[in-house]
Amino acid sequence: MAQLLLVEDDTAIRGALIRALSERGHAVSSAPAAMTALQHVVDTPPDLVLLDLGLPDLSGYEVLRMMRAVSKVPVVVITARDDEKEIVRVLNAGADDYLVKPFGPGQLDARIRAVLRRSGPAEWKGSSPIVVGGLALDLDAHEATLDGSSLDLSRREFDLLHYLAVHSGQVVTRRDLLTHVWRTPYGGADKTVDVHLSWLRRKLGETAQEPRYLHTIRGVGIKLVAP
Ligand code: CA
Repeated sequence: MAQLLLVEDDTAIRGALIRALSERGHAVSSAPAAMTALQHVVDTPPDLVLLDLGLPDLSGYEVLRMMRAVSKVPVVVITARDDEKEIVRVLNAGADDYLVKPFGPGQLDARIRAVLRRSGPAEWKGSSPIVVGGLALDLDAHEATLDGSSLDLSRREFDLLHYLAVHSGQVVTRRDLLTHVWRTPYGGADKTVDVHLSWLRRKLGETAQEPRYLHTIRGVGIKLVAP
């Protein structure tokens, strides 16, 4: 299930889109203005942002530039005007796709899924399970097992383990993790990564002093390897 952030100031349109997208299996949160949307992207990064260009506080172009300064989250722009110039401007500013109102919910859903397939994590691409030693990650079911026992991971812990497993055998830096797991290369703190890594370690039944899968490479980052 994708976590979407809908940024739209029109209450009626917002309600209709939330209903239509929820019915199609997405989890939708919403923001009525640009500044609350930017705050939301930093605090609880969504998988994709649906951004109406006609917002009360900032132009679509300005929102995109500010969003791109803190996040790589895919953005689908919704525009009321068939304004070629504005569409080109927002695409150049980092939007991934756009829709001109009015559009049907089927088309919107198809665009969202296409953008997620292109730019989202591998879990949207329906790939096969990832296996590293006794660790297996089923991306479709969003489930991880260790030696056949299910691991009770939060969404973030799963994404973190997923990224490390995809790059198993390689040293991954905290910056890599902030960029790809938190999607906030400039906004996050290394401390956040460390805290989540320690939770993940505990759930894997190991410690930093006696690692099995998660090895800290001092001053560089972290490496996941089969024990
Ligand atoms: Ca609007």
